[in-house]
Parts: sequence; structure tokens; C-alpha cells
Amino acid sequence: MLKLYNTASRKVENFKPRGEVVKIYTCGPTVYNFQHIGNYASYVYWDLLLRVLKYDGYKTKRVLNLTDVGHLESDADDGQDKLEKGAAREGKTVWEVAEFYSDDFMSHFRALNLIEPDVVARATDYVEEDMQAVDKMTENGFTYETTDGVYYDTSKFPGYADFARLNLEGLKAGARINFNKEKRNVSDFAVWKFIQPGEKHAMRWDYLGRPGYPGWHLECSTIINKELGEPIDIHTGGIDHIPVHHTNEIAQTYAISGQQLARFWLHCSFITIDGEKISKSLGNFYTLDDLKERGFSYMDYKMWVLAGHYQGTRNFTFESLESAKQRRLNWRNKIALLYQSDARKSSDDEFTKDILSILNNNLNSPEAFAYVDTHELSMDEWKIVDDLFGLNLIADTPDIDDETHKLILERQTARENKDFKRSDEIRDDLKRRGIIIEDSSEGPIWQYAA
Ligand code: AMP
Ligand code: ZN
Repeated sequence: MLKLYNTASRKVENFKPRGEVVKIYTCGPTVYNFQHIGNYASYVYWDLLLRVLKYDGYKTKRVLNLTDVGHLESDADDGQDKLEKGAAREGKTVWEVAEFYSDDFMSHFRALNLIEPDVVARATDYVEEDMQAVDKMTENGFTYETTDGVYYDTSKFPGYADFARLNLEGLKAGARINFNKEKRNVSDFAVWKFIQPGEKHAMRWDYLGRPGYPGWHLECSTIINKELGEPIDIHTGGIDHIPVHHTNEIAQTYAISGQQLARFWLHCSFITIDGEKISKSLGNFYTLDDLKERGFSYMDYKMWVLAGHYQGTRNFTFESLESAKQRRLNWRNKIALLYQSDARKSSDDEFTKDILSILNNNLNSPEAFAYVDTHELSMDEWKIVDDLFGLNLIADTPDIDDETHKLILERQTARENKDFKRSDEIRDDLKRRGIIIEDSSEGPIWQYAA
């Protein structure tokens, strides 16, 4: 039985889908810039969720959105539009920026061997539905108009503060001086923005008699409604989404259809780098390709991500990435040795049961990794590891000939017997054969010399 920590109840609960197919929605990136490694970590964790669900025997339908419109820099509906900012920076149109970064994101998504979503929904393809949603919210008495847009009156939704346990009184007291005076409540948010005369905003749609664009929370309510239907089974995102974005998605869907949006809410914690928040100004905005330039594959990074729990504090350092790389090499080495041996056991039900029960316990990937480290696996069991984590372990394992295979094993035995002279001789012999062998904290690692 799969157990998941549900943000809505603040409890680990038994997961059971409502229907035949598990309906999953993942809030995707805003496509105005490259994504940093922290962003990709969240998609790695939700990929694990999907793989575990499939292994548990569920059919799934998963939707991921790409925010290619209307996401302002600040959650408070002001600041610059992120797409406009990208366009100004690069001397391109907003449409070109959106297309470039959507493609870049999806190509890295695939390169990480993440399961392709059933629907990749671009926000700009749902603007018609956004307008209908605003109509509906207005009809149901949840909105009011101001000079700069249509706002959601959060006082009309009695449960507004519940999801994030918001302290609305505290929010009011802490409101900024330049708080939009036309807003009725500090937590009210725009579901539609009007473009002011003279304002430069290339993405625009005519609605309510003037040009404008949807508020950024709206697309998720609209896409879920159209592609999945509420309530969905699992909604995922980062912890940053809890107080505003997801709270507002829930409020919108309630105002549109009176429905609960999602039954399970999963949030992954944020990754820091050397103890700092990831940001351009701190110079630690690493992309996957930055890691590649330093000699780490995408799969090494994925290995690093899954070595920690999705809800845990994750601090990235290059030393910890190096250990993840060594661990992956060590696993591949084990596979290579197995390939050549006769000991190809058939699939072990016990192993599947054990590793699934670990992962079914709120996706405990670090414990599952420790299990893999400490058990001798057959080829079929490594296939299961690859299926569950999508690490391309078997595909990336180099072939070795019988003689090399024998030497590696002999060196292992020599080391166990503390016969370091023999072990060094073998190391030199392997080197002549183009294989470098080192003893790391993760065990002996060998590789073909570059
Ligand atoms: P964004 O493009 O800013 O909307 O972010 C895309 C996804 O990455 C969202 O699900 C965020 O919650 C997540 N995210 C952003 N920064 C981090 C981080 N430092 N660690 C983990 N996830 C992050
Ligand atoms: Zn969303």
C-alpha cells in the first residue's frame, strides 16, 4: 500500500485513487530562462512517484504545464512580466523566448530519462478557457474589477486560509505600504490583468472590451479542468507553491465549479547550494549543462537527487555530487561483472517486494538506495532498479572481456586478503588494458581511461 505525505492534511495517508486511472498534475516551469538544477530536482522526484505508481499496478494520466504567459515576478500581481523580461534581455519576441526555453526544458527533461507526461499543456493554448473561468467566477460572485484587472475576493471563500494555514490577520498587518489600494483584502489576487494604455505587453487577448492576459494561477485550474477533471488524485509542486499559488488554485476551482481540486498534495523541499538559496546574484545558478562541463553526467545529478528524500533538506555541494557519481559507477561496475558471470538469477520476487515496500513508504528513495548498496543483486534485479529510478544503469554499463573481468575480481580478493602487492600489480595490468581502477569510499571503481 502506497503511503504519501499529504500537505492538505499534514499527515502520511494511505493512497487510493478514486477511479481506474490515477490523475496527476505537476506545476511546470515558467519558460523565460534556463532552469537551474533545483528546478529539475522537483521533476526527478515526481518521476519517481510515477514509476512507483506504475510498479504498484496503477494506470496513470499525468499533465504538466508550461507557463508561457502572464507570470509576474512577484506573487502580489505586480513587478515585471517574466516573459517580457526574457524578451528584453535577449532581443527576441516573447513568443520566441517561450518556444526556446520550452524546448530547452523538454530536451533536458528527456535527457534525464523522465517519463514523458501524457499531456504537456502550454498556458497560451488555454486562454479561451481562462476567460470562461473568469466569467464563471464572476457569475458565482467571487470577483471584482479594479483599474488593473479582475480580482478574486478571497473573503468569499471561507476555507481560503486552510490549505496553507495562513494567518490572514498577520498578512494584513505585514502588508506593504504600496499595497494595491483597490484590493479589498490583502490576499486577493488577479485572475485577469488589463494592459494599461502605453504598457508594453506583447502577449495580449481581448476580453471585457480591452486587451489583457490571464493571472498566472489561473492556467493550472483551467488545464486541470479541461485535461483531467476535478478532483484529481495527486497534485505536485515545490513548497514555494503552498501559500500562494496552490492556495489560489484551490480557491479558483472552488469558485468555478464548487469542486475540490485535488485529494493529495505533494510538495518537495527546496535545494540550496553550499547552504545558500539558488540565485543568479549569488553566482550559484547552476544548470545541468554547467555540471556536465565539470565532468558530471545528467544521471550523476539524478543519482544525487534520489539519494535524498523529496521532503528533506537538500544542500548541494560538488563533493556530494562526486559521491553520487562514484556510487553510480560502483553500481555499473557491479552490473558489468555480473554480465560476464554465469550467476544470472531470475527475477527475485522478494527483492521487488522489499524495494517497493521501502518506496511505498512516502517515496523513501535514500533508504531504497541503501538497500541496493547492501544487497547482491542479480541482473533481473538491476533491471528493476533501472525501471524504478530511470538511471540508465544497464544501458551505460560498458562491456568488459573475460580476462579483464577475472582480473577485477582477483584484485578484489587480493584487497580483501590485504595482499596489496598483488592488488597493485593487477591495477598496473588493468591500466595497460586501458582500465583505470580506484578505491573510493563507495568501493572499487573502474572505468575505461578517457
Ligand atoms: P519555476 O520555473 O520558478 O516555476 O520553478 C519550477 C519548479 O521548480 C517549481 O515546481 C518550483 O517549486 C521548483 N523549484 C524552484 N526552485 C527550486 C529549488 N531551489 N529546489 C527545488 N525545487 C525548486
Ligand atoms: Zn500550478
